[in-house]
Amino acid sequence: MTKSSLEKRRTPRRTCIVCRQVSGKRELFRLVYTEVGLQVDKTGKLPGRGAYVCSKPECWFKAAQGDLASKALKTSFSELDRALLSAHGAQIASISMKPQK
Ligand SMILES: [Zn+2]
Repeated sequence: MTKSSLEKRRTPRRTCIVCRQVSGKRELFRLVYTEVGLQVDKTGKLPGRGAYVCSKPECWFKAAQGDLASKALKTSFSELDRALLSAHGAQIASISMKPQK
């Protein structure tokens, strides 16, 4: 066991529930289904069952359309929950498509 492999182990790794890509925890967004509905947990501290989605807009659109995310959270999404997912996808897309100066 080398020192560097021990270092790697300390970084939490999470899997995107849509594309199954494994990334560092900070590169993914945590979804939590709370009593008020679906929320994107920006603090990482919301209680409840969480699922992770990566920073690719298409993963958010797929999560909004299909049932991958709702299955991972063991719930069913309302129209509002799906709207939140696609809005978040659109937000990421607009950030990553910003023209460079
Ligand atoms: Zn993904």
